[in-house]
Amino acid sequence: MKIGTPKEVFEGEARVAMTPDSARQLQKLGYDCAIESGAGEKAGFTDDAYAEAGVEIIKTAAALWKVADIVAKVRPPSEAEVKRLTQGKLLISFFWPAQNKDLMEEAAKKGASVIAMDMVPRISRAQKMDALSSMANIAGYRAVIEAGNNFGRFFTGQITAAGKVPPAKVLVVGAGVAGLAAIGTSTSLGAITYAFDVRPEVAEQVESMGAEFVFLDFEEEAKDGAETGGYASVSSPEFTAAQLAKFRELAPDMDIVITTALIPNREAPELWTKDMVDAMKPGSVIVDLAAEKGGNCKLTKMDEKIVTDNGVTIIGYTDFPSRMATQSSTLFATNIRHLMTDLTPDKDGKVKHNMEDDVIRGATIAHEKEVTFPPPPPKTK
Ligand code: NAD
Repeated sequence: MKIGTPKEVFEGEARVAMTPDSARQLQKLGYDCAIESGAGEKAGFTDDAYAEAGVEIIKTAAALWKVADIVAKVRPPSEAEVKRLTQGKLLISFFWPAQNKDLMEEAAKKGASVIAMDMVPRISRAQKMDALSSMANIAGYRAVIEAGNNFGRFFTGQITAAGKVPPAKVLVVGAGVAGLAAIGTSTSLGAITYAFDVRPEVAEQVESMGAEFVFLDFEEEAKDGAETGGYASVSSPEFTAAQLAKFRELAPDMDIVITTALIPNREAPELWTKDMVDAMKPGSVIVDLAAEKGGNCKLTKMDEKIVTDNGVTIIGYTDFPSRMATQSSTLFATNIRHLMTDLTPDKDGKVKHNMEDDVIRGATIAHEKEVTFPPPPPKTK
């Protein structure tokens, strides 16, 4: 069978779902590989590099979609791309099925199978295919770099002949995958780093990375972990009030605030209010990684950078992984390659779409002319 990767059609998207290295590994599983000419260019992979790795270069998207039995891409398919799916083809990409129901139904109707990378269950066995975590890790890192680029001072404190420089103070709100990556980057650059999460169990992880966990004088009744699947759930009004009071106290002292707080299937909670922005020093920077879900800061403008009247920069970009396209393509392509390994138990270049496998079942949203989303909960850990 042939695995093909087209050029991403979403404006500004620089990632690519196959790299020369991942193609070499896919060929070891028995697959032929093909790529649309120029698909890897923005991520730093030339047609020549693919050709050297044994990948067939195909001139047009139409021809690529036609010859590929399996299409691997990054972004959900456009309407035009879904039209190119035919009976028996397999599409692997981020899909966000709850938000793209029409596309999912159309793909199922055409008899194509679809594996959504955003639906890979977050169980230990599937970590190697967890593209959400790969991308969140990059977003967290890049958020700090972007903040530093817009901040007029060092992160680390210095004593120089020209005077003493205080270290920057960074607050990371939300210590999931992106938040922890931001904390690691911030502490390694030498900033005094604070972090907060509604899940107190992450305090130890935060502290082991050299940051200080911000504790509240308030105890929320513990939620049943099985009920929330390890994710955050909506806090009580009393807890939120205590959290906001703490942030209000910290705001004047923070140079950089990175917010990453999300609750699955909801708008992002508003945690950094206008009065907190007003209380920050000129030159401070906020990076709102929740911008796509409405933002943790009300003033955030999605995909924009703004500077407030009191000189605070607020960054609401939603394309951090694409801004590091070589790294993110490498990790995404590796996630796909691991998925293909599980789909090819006999290493014979043929997909065995095993719907009894928790990971494959969980991520499959269309198969054999049926919509198979939402999946049943996984049986294994
Ligand atoms: P996410 O992107 O959904 O949310 C980011 C963080 O925001 C979470 O840590 C959440 O607790 C926090 N948050 C929500 N509301 C908040 C509030 N009001 N104030 C402060 N923080 C708030 O999370 P994620 O990065 O996808 O990770 C969520 C969970 O999934 C974690 O428990 C993580 O360990 C787990 N996970 C498991 C695997 C695996 O087992 N393979 C992989 C990745 C993540």
